[in-house]
Amino acid sequence: MFFGAIYWSRQKESKPVVRKSTPVVQTTDANLWPMPQPPSHAPHPGSLPSVQVLPEVVRDNRYPEFRGWEPSSLQLCLKALVQQHPRADIRVELDRLIRTGVITLNFQTQDGISALFQVVQKKYVSEHSPGTPDKPEYLVLSVSPDWLASLKTTDEVLEGFLVIYHEYQHYKQWTHGDAMMQMIAKAQEDPELRAKIGLTQEMACKDMWDKETAAYAAECRLANSWNFSHMSLLCESVDTPVWTHAVFTGLASREPYSLYCQRTFAELAGHPNSGMFR
Ligand SMILES: [Zn+2]
Repeated sequence: MFFGAIYWSRQKESKPVVRKSTPVVQTTDANLWPMPQPPSHAPHPGSLPSVQVLPEVVRDNRYPEFRGWEPSSLQLCLKALVQQHPRADIRVELDRLIRTGVITLNFQTQDGISALFQVVQKKYVSEHSPGTPDKPEYLVLSVSPDWLASLKTTDEVLEGFLVIYHEYQHYKQWTHGDAMMQMIAKAQEDPELRAKIGLTQEMACKDMWDKETAAYAAECRLANSWNFSHMSLLCESVDTPVWTHAVFTGLASREPYSLYCQRTFAELAGHPNSGMFR
């Protein structure tokens, strides 16, 4: 339905991303910069939110573009995830953004990606999107049907809340960003615009680092406020001196960052040997 790179993606934690290309840079070796145990947080007074079972996602082979998932049941399931969310900004604001078409939903992601927020310019929206309103650019929340259908247990639904909250941070980054940030966001998905504004890989990686670091921090703070164990080392490190080290450990070996951004990420994280990355 939409063309796009895999920027701002929220990858599944449990499933390694399938490599489709040969890495062009050295991958991170954790032994070269071992992650210390983060200082322990004081226990949070909060408790786990209550969770209801999400509506079942039904397969329907009439819709091959959704890999056999029936669109209305995908929408119902996502709607429940949004409307039952423990955070009022998701229940109210994100719900409104989706209902009013400010954010366009796309139930299709690349393998290994659970959810993804993108700014896609009109010229990249394919003709296969009937009823798509006419806008210069689209704010697209892509959600994997398989991932959505997999949210069955309480812990899985809580993870689902956290992933949606993470993607909502990217929406807020877009709306609160200055003109340059918005230009970079658009250029991430647009080779012509990249060339026009002279966006270098380093600028794109720095932008990605800032956005992902902030989105993961918000996600981890929310999980910690519930006393919910989530992405253990990463979320134990938020708001401690080892936070950027933990983000580097978590992100730098994942595509697409492993291919393009290791050097920049290493420099930004304070890696003692950032020069070893190309
Ligand atoms: Zn993200």
